[in-house]
Parts: sequence; C-alpha cells; structure tokens
Amino acid sequence: MLSLRQLFLLNNAQTSFTPRMLHIERAEGVYLYGPDNKAYIDFVSGFAVSNVGHRHPKVVQAIKDQVDRYMHLAVYGEYIQSPQVLYATKITSVLPESINSVYFVNSGAEATEGALKLAKRYTGRSKIISCNSAYHGSTHGALSVMGNEYYKEAYRPLLPDVHFINFNEEADLHTIDEQTACVIMETIQGEAGVRVADTSYMQALRKRCTETGTLLIFDEIQTGFGRTGKLFAFEHYDIAPDILLLAKGIGGGMPIGAFCANRDIMSVLADNPILGHITTFGGHPVCCAAGLATLNAILEENMMAGVDEKEALLRKELQHPAIKEIRGKGLMLCIQLDSFKQVEEVSKLCIANGVIVDWFLHCDTAIRIAPPLITTDEEIIKACEVIKNALTEYNNKAK
Ligand code: PLP
Repeated sequence: MLSLRQLFLLNNAQTSFTPRMLHIERAEGVYLYGPDNKAYIDFVSGFAVSNVGHRHPKVVQAIKDQVDRYMHLAVYGEYIQSPQVLYATKITSVLPESINSVYFVNSGAEATEGALKLAKRYTGRSKIISCNSAYHGSTHGALSVMGNEYYKEAYRPLLPDVHFINFNEEADLHTIDEQTACVIMETIQGEAGVRVADTSYMQALRKRCTETGTLLIFDEIQTGFGRTGKLFAFEHYDIAPDILLLAKGIGGGMPIGAFCANRDIMSVLADNPILGHITTFGGHPVCCAAGLATLNAILEENMMAGVDEKEALLRKELQHPAIKEIRGKGLMLCIQLDSFKQVEEVSKLCIANGVIVDWFLHCDTAIRIAPPLITTDEEIIKACEVIKNALTEYNNKAK
C-alpha cells in the first residue's frame, strides 16, 4: 500500500521537482494543522487568498446554506442566480461609480484573459502594454503579459503586439499611444518581490491612458480585499482603473475571479459576436455565496482597521542583521535577503518550526510575508521570533 506522499508524487502532476510536500489535514483561522496535529501559522495566507483566515465561520455557513439550495445551474450569464447578483451588487457598491459591472470567472488568470479580450474588443486596437517582472497568471494570454522571459520562452508563440515597460518608470509611459488597447499592471507588483509604485507615477500612468484612449487594467488579484489596508490598493493612489481584476481573496477560500468595468465597456461582450466571453462555471453560486460572506465579514468585522498597525508591528519585530530591506504595504510584505539558498533554507527552518513562509516567482532572494488580516499581535510576534531564529540558525551554520 503506497503512502499518501508516494501517491501524490505518482498520480498528481508535479509543477516542480521540489514541492513543499507539507501534508495538511485541517485549517482554522490563521492555522494549518498536520496529521500529527502540528500547528503552522499560515504567514502567506495560502498565497494571498485567506485574507479572512481559513474557514471563516460566516463563509463556511454561507457555503453550507447555498449547497442546500443549489450548486451549478447553467453557464454564466443566462439564469438569475441570487448569489451572483447579490455579490456583483455588493462589489460594485464598494467600487468607484465608474466601475459598475462585474463579470465572474473562476480564477485570476481567467480574469486576465477576459480583460485583455475586453480591451481589444472595446478599443478595436491590438497593442498591449505590460510590465517587466509582472505576473498575471499562467494561461496563454496571461503568460503573454508576464514580464519574465524564463517562463515564456518554451511556450511561444504567444499573443502578438505585447510590449513591456519598467514598473514605476515614468520615462517609459510614452510607449502608451493611440494604438494601445490597454495597459495591464499590478497596483503593487507581487511576484516581482513586492514593489510599490510612487503615487506620482500611478497618476501619470492614469493620465497617459486617458489621453490616448487606452484602457487601464489594474490587477488587484493579490492586493485586493484589504491586503494593503484599503479594500483595493488603487485607493492609495487616488485614481481608478478602467478594468479591475479580482481573484484569490474574493472567494474566502473558494475559487472565483472577476473582471469589473463600466457597463458601457462591458456591453461589447454581448454583441457582434454575442457571447464574446463564455464560461460554464464562472460565478459558481457556492463561490459567490462564499465571496459575499467574505466581503461582508471584512467590512462588518472591520478587518482593515488594524492593517497599518500590524504592518508597523511586523516592521518593528523583523529586525535582524540578515534582513537587508522590508518592502511592501500593509500585510503584503517581503524581507529581502542575500541569496536563494538563504531564502530556501530559512523558509524550511521556519516551516519546521511552525511558520509558513515562501518566496516569489520573479524574486527568489526575498521571503514572502502575507498573513491573514485577522492575525493577532501575539501571533505576529511569535511568527517573527521564529523567522529571526531561523535567520540566526542559518547564519551560524553558514559561518
Ligand atoms: N495576477 C496576480 C497579481 C497574481 O498574483 C496571480 C496569482 O498568483 C494571478 C494573477 C493569477 O491568479 P490564478 O492563480 O488564480 O490564475
């Protein structure tokens, strides 16, 4: 009889030769539990998903209630399904008035795909601009706008007419012109190793897009739903996008994504051809019910209120000679170290000692810190202690 570990390696397609292989039996709040009941603080929120913690009771209840009514009924966009309608209504109520239509999909990459199609169809243009070190998902369209050649090379040909600029570099904005359908950008670059742009840059970007009739797509798949202390990170810059991408945290642990825009822009998907974007499971009623409960919990339980203080606490606690820099905003942070080996070994030590951390797709010399918004000060202090001890242990071994 093969062990679960052996079966995992045998029957589940692998994404690398070095999977974490952490076996988790259950999860609650900020904790994951192994088969031996060993507790781990999830200091990455399942990769920026569990903003409200794992299995938030209101989310769990909403899922149970919805499962008792119905699950899948029909392809997206045909039937009136109350969880979809109520969640879209709630999302638009917390967005600027100009963004008043929500198209639900199943994931972040699908939100990217839908938005790129929408921008091309609405503007009648084909030129797309993205950023170096950007990450918007792994499907073909999303891969085309990924700013890292290493991951793309083997999968060419990809989408044509995609151009790259440097994030936060105002001099590059002239690349945006009257032929440009859209600029797609993360409001804070995540997989690049948490890079925050200047407000002046973001405002100049908005201005240039408006001047040239280019649609500005903000990818808030990682930054959205309170992670940076505001519901959406674009609020820090006092601007709004034309198309907003959401996923990860918006399902409270269930798979759902969305691209949101003005009704006029979105309407082109319904005409010439009709069914301009199709998804069977997009806006699954159980996921929408979970999402609505998630957003309600964030707002009703004031989860964003303590984010700035928690960031300050993390910055205060994470003082160690091995840490070169702490970057980020709110609870989307990273600690910059020296090498991948150090990041890898320190992460292993942290996990062995009950704190889950990780690194980034385009920056493997920094450790990802993105705890759930509900993490208490005590848990933050405890997790920081584990991280600092791991850094010291690594340093001592390396000597
Ligand atoms: N966009 C950003 C900024 C992301 O961080 C991710 C996932 O990490 C995606 C898009 C893709 O989302 P998904 O993995 O749900 O396709």
